[in-house]
Amino acid sequence: MAKLISVVVPMFNEEAVLDGFFARIVPVLDGITERFGLNWEIVAVDDGSRDTTADRLKEIAAANPAVTVVLLARNFGKEAAMTAGLEHARGDAVIPIDVDLQDPPEVMDEFVQRWFNGAEMVVGIRLDRSADTPVKRTTSRLFYQLFNLLCRPGIPENAGDFRLMDRVVVDAVLRLRETNRFMKGLFAWVGFKTEYVEFVREKRSAGSSTWSYMRLLRFAIDGITGFSTVPLRMWSWLGFTIAILSFVYGVYFVVKALIIGDPVAGFPTLVAVILFLSGMQMIGLGVMGEYVGRLYMEAKQRPVYIAREVIRSRAETSASSD
Ligand code: UDP
Ligand code: MG
Repeated sequence: MAKLISVVVPMFNEEAVLDGFFARIVPVLDGITERFGLNWEIVAVDDGSRDTTADRLKEIAAANPAVTVVLLARNFGKEAAMTAGLEHARGDAVIPIDVDLQDPPEVMDEFVQRWFNGAEMVVGIRLDRSADTPVKRTTSRLFYQLFNLLCRPGIPENAGDFRLMDRVVVDAVLRLRETNRFMKGLFAWVGFKTEYVEFVREKRSAGSSTWSYMRLLRFAIDGITGFSTVPLRMWSWLGFTIAILSFVYGVYFVVKALIIGDPVAGFPTLVAVILFLSGMQMIGLGVMGEYVGRLYMEAKQRPVYIAREVIRSRAETSASSD
C-alpha cells in the first residue's frame, strides 16, 4: 500500500490564517504525494480556540476526508496540542507545521526526498530569522546557548518544530509520557538518523503571535529544567566555594585582630555579606522550588491534554487499526 504522510497542525485562535493555510498546503501536498506516490492526511488540532477556528475546521473536515480534526477541551498550549496531533496521526512519516505559514509548506518536498533517501528525521533549520524581531532573535540565541551548555543532547540552534519524523521517531517520542513537554528537546532526545534542511522563516501571514515574553520565559525554564539538573546541583558547588572563601576570610580576621587589635568597624561589610548570602539562598531555594513544583505536577500523572471530540471520516477510520 502507498505510504501515508501526516501533517500535524496545532491551532489557537487562528481564524485569520486558517483558510490561507489550507489553500496553500493542499496543492503542495497533492504535488508531493503525486511525485512520490504517497497519500496524505492533515491532523488539525484546535487548542481551545475562542474564535471560529473550531467551527471552520469542522466544515473543512466535513468537505475533505483527508482532514482529521482534534478539538481540545481548553487551551493546553502548543506542546500539548502537538502531542495530541502526533497521537492521532497515522502516517508513516509525520510533519508538524505552524498554521501561520511561517514554515513554508514547499520545504516539505525536500523533507520527503530526504526521508525516501533513508533519513529518519529531517529537521528544518531557520536560516534567516529577519522576520522575527531583534529582541526575539537575541533572547532565542541566548536560550539555545544556555540550553546546549546545560543539557545533553543539545538542540541545534534555529531548529523549530517544523520537521519530518519517521514513524519510529514518532512512536519513540510518544513513549515519553512527561507532562512538561518541551517538544524540541524530546525530538532531539530520542535520537535517530537526522538530517537538516535550511529554509527562510517567513512573516506570520496574518493574526498575531500569542507568545508573550513572559510565556517564552516560562517555556525556556520548562525546557532547561526538563532536560538538566545542573541548575539544581550547582548550588552545592556554590555553597562549597562560598564556605571555603568564608573560612579564608575568617582566618584573615583572626590574624588581623591578633596583630593590630580589634576596633569595631566593618558594619557596611557585614550588611553587604548578609544581604548577598541571603539573596543567594533565596535563589537556591527558588530553583529548588522550580524542580519540586515540576516533580509534583509529574507525580499526578495527569494526561497531557483532554480532547472534547475527534472528527475523522468514517472511511479513514475503518481502514485504521485502532
Ligand atoms: N499555538 C497553539 N496553542 C497555543 C499557542 C499557539 O496551538 O497556545 C499554535 C499556533 O496556532 C501556531 C503555532 O502554535 O500554529 C505557533 O504559534 P505562533 O505563531 O503564535 O508562535 P511563534 O511563531 O510566534 O513562535
Ligand atoms: Mg508563528
